[in-house]
Amino acid sequence: MFESLKGVLQETTFSDVLDVVIVSFLVFQLLKFVRGTQATHIVLGALGVVALFLTATLLELRLLTLLLRNVLPYVAFAGIVVFQAEIRKLLASIGRVLFSRTGPASTDDVLDEIVLAAQSLASAKTGALIVFERDMGLKSFAETGVRLDAVVTYDLLCNIFTPGSPLHDGAVVVQADRLSAAACFLPLTVNPELSRTLGSRHRAAIGVTEDTDAIALVVSEETGGISLVSAGTMTRLAEPKELTEALRAQMKRRRAVATRHRGSAA
Ligand code: ATP
Ligand code: MG
Repeated sequence: MFESLKGVLQETTFSDVLDVVIVSFLVFQLLKFVRGTQATHIVLGALGVVALFLTATLLELRLLTLLLRNVLPYVAFAGIVVFQAEIRKLLASIGRVLFSRTGPASTDDVLDEIVLAAQSLASAKTGALIVFERDMGLKSFAETGVRLDAVVTYDLLCNIFTPGSPLHDGAVVVQADRLSAAACFLPLTVNPELSRTLGSRHRAAIGVTEDTDAIALVVSEETGGISLVSAGTMTRLAEPKELTEALRAQMKRRRAVATRHRGSAA
């Protein structure tokens, strides 16, 4: 056993060390990604099986190696099925880092109209849900609703969310300066740690920001409260000034990317 261990150490090259460092980094990132989610124990279990397989190979435990060699491919398939949502999110965020899109961001005028409408809807206790596209496209969500491709105005937003209007049920999607669709259906969050008091409007706002880098603005018809949701975190904003500043700050990163790309295209 020690002979084979010595042999392995002697044959170790710089590429092997680099290999181990990269794999360790990836495993660390994977654990960081799933920490605090229900997936943690599943990932730890899968890593345990891999560690056992490597140990069995190193110690030349033939029966155990044979057994695990046959089991491991199924563990990999099970992982893809169990983590399909996480894998989708991870690949999307890698794609976002590598290839940010170049469309224009919402201008201050558009944000002002939206803040004004949100205030007005909140004071009338009219529920509303507005989702803003950033780097990741929201086309698939916009397509679940009614296509409008309209200029974003205070009047239009108030009209859409007026109870009883044909488009009041669902979310409005804002892509750059355009109100692209209304009555859209968004994915609901499945986060088990959220308060049970949150209804489906708030769950949809959180859900879409977990699956994409979008921002969602929610007006509660029950409380008249306005909240901004980003990356699955909801912040209640009492003052209109606070809301304007928070919205501008969230859209700023998007705008910086767009300007950079336009600059380099010129
Ligand atoms: P509120 O505080 O306004 O009552 P809530 O979080 O309690 O909000 P509900 O009372 O369940 O949520 O709100 C229902 C409304 O939310 C629906 O009529 C619909 O307009 C909207 N809604 C519910 N689910 C979705 C969804 N998946 N996508 C978009 N909009 C949704
Ligand atoms: Mg409710």
